[in-house]
Amino acid sequence: MSLYSDEGLVLKTVKLGEADRIITILTAHHGKIRAVAKGIRRTRSRFGARLEPFMRNQLLIAQGRNLDVILQASCIGSYANNIITNYEAYITAEVMCETADKLCTLEGIAQQDQYTLLLGAIIALAQKRYVTWQIRLSYILQAMALAGWRPQLDACVICGAHTQLNYFSVAHGGLLCQYDAVSGAYRVSGAQIGLLQALQHAPIKGYQGENDPQISRIVETWAQYYLERPIRSTQLVNFKYEF
Ligand SMILES: [Zn+2]
Repeated sequence: MSLYSDEGLVLKTVKLGEADRIITILTAHHGKIRAVAKGIRRTRSRFGARLEPFMRNQLLIAQGRNLDVILQASCIGSYANNIITNYEAYITAEVMCETADKLCTLEGIAQQDQYTLLLGAIIALAQKRYVTWQIRLSYILQAMALAGWRPQLDACVICGAHTQLNYFSVAHGGLLCQYDAVSGAYRVSGAQIGLLQALQHAPIKGYQGENDPQISRIVETWAQYYLERPIRSTQLVNFKYEF
């Protein structure tokens, strides 16, 4: 049985059998993994609450034939408490972890840039560094960009013009000038383009401006279009409350 250790963030958990759970974890050096935590649903589990979503752990894992097995988990940073006690932060963390889960494959390839980005976003959320909608949209745009889907935000994707950029087309990959507008494109203002550019800027940082429901829609449509799958937890985000 070969062992490996790594640090990782819990993305989600599902029940397995009577007392176990399968934990999906984005690790720093082994990419996304799925591993069994045996006995975790028993009252006196040695894992305690350490393998709940959004928790960051140092892990010792045994490679199995089908699924790996988590032997030890020690908490590195307990960000989860600040997140699970705040509904907005909780939903935001759900959206980010679901996005990461859908973006990252299970092929054992290190995805350190995705790990660093998600960790930074979770810490910013737990420490309330910026308003939650900024963290959510900024994370989604940057995670998609790291995976190769970066919207073109400085020129028309069709003719390359830098002026009269009045439309954004998800299917075309970014901004369109008014002469190349296609049906289904969003009409966007200069301020909205500025907001998208700021949100795409790494690292995740604050932006002076109001939440804009259309920008939320553009960013979420962007992610779901290129992932070719819905991000279910985005449905829990209620724009009326601006998060
Ligand atoms: Zn054009």
